Amino acid sequence: MNEPPPADELLQRLRRFKSDYFPHHQQRFQDLVAQGQHPKTLFIGCSDSRLVPYLLTDAAPGELFIVRNVGAFVPPYDGSHGLHGTTAAIEFAVLSLNVERIVVCGHSHCGAIRACYEGVPDEAVVLKEWLKLADEAMLPVQAGPEAMRRTEQRAIVLQLERLMGYPMVRRNVEAGKLTLHGWHYVIEEGEIHVFDAQQGGFVPASIASNSGTGPYQPYVEHDGQIADC
Ligand SMILES: [Zn+2]
Repeated sequence: MNEPPPADELLQRLRRFKSDYFPHHQQRFQDLVAQGQHPKTLFIGCSDSRLVPYLLTDAAPGELFIVRNVGAFVPPYDGSHGLHGTTAAIEFAVLSLNVERIVVCGHSHCGAIRACYEGVPDEAVVLKEWLKLADEAMLPVQAGPEAMRRTEQRAIVLQLERLMGYPMVRRNVEAGKLTLHGWHYVIEEGEIHVFDAQQGGFVPASIASNSGTGPYQPYVEHDGQIADC
């Protein structure tokens, strides 16, 4: 007798999706194929494994168009950071899918933000360059918990500003067809803190009046106040 193959847990999970999950949701998937996808939200999130967009937003298949990267950063539209998947995703989501919302979702204990302060291995030359997209959010202080949180939040606002440098984003925002949402997910609290442009700070979703900034207001930096909200 041959030895049984070693257990492949990942293969088992793929099989369970087909046998356990899919039969209960088959119609939805088939509708999404027949009618195409029409997500209303572009979700730009950090790649961190603890950030689970579908869980946080109680979303079903077909509802979120997602692009994730280290830090949830948005490259500048001028191409100075080369060809980039996030830029392509933004163009596709806005121009072809006509999304109504763009969420930029960072989070607590973000390794990307920590690496901005602590550095990366010498061999990680692309990562090192990539992290420069948060340079303007960094604070001239030691990277303690409070500075980390403030930097994480400032980085989110910075990406919202950079989004407004995309002509198709700016155009739709100014036309009232697109809203921008800056979210800071605090993993240990189970709470999203929503950037409120009027207040210039982040407000816990449990007491916030809306999930985003609505029509974009130019962000005026009030250093130190972000962390006070
Ligand atoms: Zn992160």
